[in-house]
Amino acid sequence: MINKAQANTPVMKQFFEIKVNYNDAIVLFRMGDFYETFLEDAVITSKILGIVLTKRANGKAADVELAGFPYHSLDTYLPKLVQAGYRVAICEQTEDSQNAKGIVKREVIEVVTPGTLTMDQTLNNKTNRYIGSLYTVGNKTGLAFLDSSTGEFNIGECYHDDLNNSLFQFNPSEIVISDKIVYSNLGWYKEFRPFITQVDNQLFSYDVSYKALIDHFKIKSLKSFGCENLQLGICSAGALVQHLKINLSASLDHLCKLTPTVEEGFMGIDSFSLKNLEIFKSLSNQGEHGTFINSIDETITAGGGRLLKKNILKPLTNKREIVNRLDTVEQFVKNPNLLQLIREALHDSFDLQRILGKVNKSKASPKDLIATASTLDLIPKWKKYLESTTDNNLNNISKSFYETKLIVGKIYSMLNEKPSSHLSKGNVIKEGVDSELDELRNLMVSGKKWISNYQNELRQSLEIAKLKIGFNKVFGYFIEVTKINQEKIPTTFTRKQTLVNSERFITDELKEYEEKILNAESRIYNIESLLFTQLCEFILKNKESIQNNAIVINYLDFITSLSFLARKNGYVKPSITEETVIDIKKARHPVVESLIPSTEKFIPNDLSIDANKNQIHLLTGPNMAGKSTYLRQTGLIVILAQIGSFVPAHKAKIGIVDRLFTRVGASDNLAAGESTFLVEMNEVANILNNATNRSLILLDEIGRGTATYDGLSIAMAITEHIHDNVNTKARTIFATHYHELTELEKSLENMENYHVEVKEFKDSIIFLRSIKKGPGDRSYGIQVAKMAGLPDSVIDRAANILKRYIKQPNGKKLLLKDTAVKITENHQDEINFKKKLKNLDINKITPLEAIKILDELKKDID
Ligand code: ADP
Ligand code: MG
Repeated sequence: MINKAQANTPVMKQFFEIKVNYNDAIVLFRMGDFYETFLEDAVITSKILGIVLTKRANGKAADVELAGFPYHSLDTYLPKLVQAGYRVAICEQTEDSQNAKGIVKREVIEVVTPGTLTMDQTLNNKTNRYIGSLYTVGNKTGLAFLDSSTGEFNIGECYHDDLNNSLFQFNPSEIVISDKIVYSNLGWYKEFRPFITQVDNQLFSYDVSYKALIDHFKIKSLKSFGCENLQLGICSAGALVQHLKINLSASLDHLCKLTPTVEEGFMGIDSFSLKNLEIFKSLSNQGEHGTFINSIDETITAGGGRLLKKNILKPLTNKREIVNRLDTVEQFVKNPNLLQLIREALHDSFDLQRILGKVNKSKASPKDLIATASTLDLIPKWKKYLESTTDNNLNNISKSFYETKLIVGKIYSMLNEKPSSHLSKGNVIKEGVDSELDELRNLMVSGKKWISNYQNELRQSLEIAKLKIGFNKVFGYFIEVTKINQEKIPTTFTRKQTLVNSERFITDELKEYEEKILNAESRIYNIESLLFTQLCEFILKNKESIQNNAIVINYLDFITSLSFLARKNGYVKPSITEETVIDIKKARHPVVESLIPSTEKFIPNDLSIDANKNQIHLLTGPNMAGKSTYLRQTGLIVILAQIGSFVPAHKAKIGIVDRLFTRVGASDNLAAGESTFLVEMNEVANILNNATNRSLILLDEIGRGTATYDGLSIAMAITEHIHDNVNTKARTIFATHYHELTELEKSLENMENYHVEVKEFKDSIIFLRSIKKGPGDRSYGIQVAKMAGLPDSVIDRAANILKRYIKQPNGKKLLLKDTAVKITENHQDEINFKKKLKNLDINKITPLEAIKILDELKKDID
């Protein structure tokens, strides 16, 4: 691509030499006060940033496209380029242009990618931004995820089938894989479409990776992190560290530990459930409005917000731990004064984890360090509050703070409490810290006096009342007089500059003064920078205690946010049991109840389910009756309880759930090119393979993605499987508008029918939203259609057709109610049908086979 003619100037020659090594990146080439981009980079950059594309005249046929922006706009423009999906190499001038012989030296000092972008304004504070790394051998994959803005570094392994779930938890913006992998067709790639970086396969070799990690942490083995046995995880984590250090020139000094992503001890919520329960993203608008997180997040700090999100992804399954959290939350619920005091102090705290990240990148400002001190300085206050009760849990939180008084003292003793936002603006280091600094500052102050004295003197001696002494960056100090007065200037003055209306001069005295002042200024800057850098180093040395305290503060915010939520919305403390029951009185949906218009009221409902007695609840009712809402509120209440939160109900007894499965029929995944029904069956197969006796399964209109008969058959078969299989006796709520399914109650001992009550009023219906035992009487589809605003002619016609079907001359019901009836009608067919289904080992068939079998079954009964 390099056209030799284009490299005909020294700068372009240098650019091409650098660009060869960063061919896959946009190179921001620093030239004086600008970052310039050339050629194709310039075309892309100008388009993304909306800046002008010009040409650098390099002689005919050698013109070079050019687009640039001022260096101080880097923070604005860089994130835009990176978020548009580009890798950006920042190439700086690495020597002072005044000292340069010939062309100034330039080097790429950092490569920024979507996973490593840490510019403040791009980070939604309550969200982590991870770069991940994957390494697969056989059916297992090693994983590592790193958020360099906070220093969190996770390592894990999973079976390849579970990879999507693991990725969902971290939602990495970028994934690093070996250059030996062709990824475009892999499932996880199609699902998440992260920014991909491929690196030398060598980086993933176990020995090389292991060494990279122990070298980084300066330890002898990885045992202390509890990840020694995660061989593939180590390959991934090691490759990631090497890639960041070597390829991106990133500094990682603030990472102090590697945390295994253990899956034991936590409720498994798979990615389908997270989506269907609208935990973080709304299904309708893909935004945060109307999501679970949005309605329960009462955290005050960014770190608390991040912790809440993490905990929602990992509800606990250990009874003692859950009860501990609940008890802690309860303490603050009962003690609103304490709650308020602690939360007030949280309002005054800053994001220590992200500040440490900045200190590590040498990007911390004096303000950031003051923020560190003022935040750590709140700890004694929190400790006092936490110890004001005799509660063990609160006392333990207090004890888990490390002593950081020294750090606070050191920062306050060195920095002005209201420092300027940037070092170069001066006035950062306190008086009395460095005697030379103090002297120089005095010199500056007395210098200012000298100037004003000198100005007065000149005004009098030269009799120019308007004579001024000024300063600018290019010309330094000058004496300025208007043109009329220039004759009064003695010849000993040297002319410096002629302006339209005035003349500028310099004298030897002023020159001497200027040198002294300018020297003092740059010396002050040097001393301040040096002391500031030393302070940053000191902070990095103490990163472990600061990180620890940051984590305790996050936890305090997390816990108190739940207490606040409970008080605000009238939640109650659930009781936790190991039995496989869920017993909730007057349960509400935490999101729907908060979004419901003030003219309406949310109707609470009960649930009493026991895997050993009424394991499956079949919930019928017309569209819009409130089935999905009921299903989801059950899932959300279980999640809330197991993260240690109170729940929206009058009373709740929650039997610990080990895995939560939520499936919604007819979920539309056409965009990904898969049939909706295939997707649906994929999701169901995953349940049948993974559910246990302690799981909770929420099925919403499963079977809707295909023709009625198929859908019904599948729905029945699934229900029977869950009911009959000793290993999947999971508590299950199945919402369906297939009224026919209620017949199953007769043959399935542990199934119970429920319906959402509606009342007919003239030819319309009123939704009562309350759940009652027993099957509902019919579907009310036509009434719902009418309410939805279908034209009257269509409604009338539909009502007529329906009447005809109900009044079949032979008395048989037909159409939608067929399937169940047909099966009982023809006994032999039923036996064959059941046999086929019974012999089917769902664990062993692929979704495609499932569809084939379905097709056969359908032909059998058609
Ligand atoms: P279905 O799944 O039966 O079609 P949904 O659960 O989607 O019905 O509920 C339809 C709408 O009814 C919801 O958007 C909500 O606004 C309202 N709704 C549902 N349950 C309740 C309730 N218990 N109290 C008040 N309004 C409710
Ligand atoms: Mg629904």
